Amino acid sequence: MVDQHPASTVVVVGALNVDAVVRAPRLPAPGETVVGPHVTWHGGGKGANAAVAAARAGARTQLIGAVGADDQGRSTLRELAAEGVDIGGVASLDDSATGVALIVVDAQAENQIAVGLGANADLTPEYVARALEGRLHAAGCVLVSTEITPGAVIAAVDAASRAGVPVILNPAPVIAAVARCISGATVITPNESEADLLLELIGGSTGGRREERWSELAERAAASVVVTLGSEGVAVVQPGEPVVVVPARSVSAVDTTGAGDTFNGVLAARVAAGDDLREAVAFAVAAASLSVTRAGARGGMPTFDAIAAFSG
Ligand code: ADP
Repeated sequence: MVDQHPASTVVVVGALNVDAVVRAPRLPAPGETVVGPHVTWHGGGKGANAAVAAARAGARTQLIGAVGADDQGRSTLRELAAEGVDIGGVASLDDSATGVALIVVDAQAENQIAVGLGANADLTPEYVARALEGRLHAAGCVLVSTEITPGAVIAAVDAASRAGVPVILNPAPVIAAVARCISGATVITPNESEADLLLELIGGSTGGRREERWSELAERAAASVVVTLGSEGVAVVQPGEPVVVVPARSVSAVDTTGAGDTFNGVLAARVAAGDDLREAVAFAVAAASLSVTRAGARGGMPTFDAIAAFSG
């Protein structure tokens, strides 16, 4: 039975963006302009999305990151606060723009995305270390993703691991800094292509069966590795143990955007609540499977009760 835990606080360190989405008949070629009738704006960024997922799953959730002191930044923060995310750790930077993802989606649902990191690229290691200092004593889990400065990623993982707080490291995207702090991670959550890139980055062998590569990744990182596999579900790999696949639930998928963010946020919520890794993964897989049944990265993120009902 999945229960709330009185001290389940998650601290998320990661990016906050606004996503501008245009649906067009096809993706533009270099130098070309394509036109679509509508434009929609959504809150995005892996850090902010995962924080929303963790909060909806019932965790007290604190977010550390940065936005610009502009209209997008203000609306981003309002939206997160309305979700119950504690935004006290999000810096509002005068000389930066809020991060933006420019997304074009074609008639086949293929997309093309350019991200301007903006304030996310101005998040300093010193700021992250200070923001964590006052928060780690109450944290049950720290979730770190990598659309921010390398120094901020390293500072977050190092501070949390020194404090003995479990760290989930979502290496999305795989950046070189991950190699410098991977030893501080408790759980690493790449998708399949990120798992291969990460293994290469830390000097592993890239041949053989995928299960062998994941096992080598877990051994080298001395951490649990949870590989997300889209509609297949996830593979849980603990150093020295056989790979266990937790299948996704069979659903009618409408939009898989943000499925990984949902998985990571809910996983962090359950780790913070004291679940063991297998239980936490099962709950997060159920949440991520539910999330793809509705449009938008955050549109389908389920509540604790909805996940519990779906898991039951
Ligand atoms: P990412 O978006 O980071 O690449 P994935 O596509 O692997 O991540 O999705 C993360 C998780 O979301 C999966 O492990 C699975 O639990 C769930 N998921 C994704 N796509 C589907 C799908 N089509 N049906 C059911 N669950 C899905």
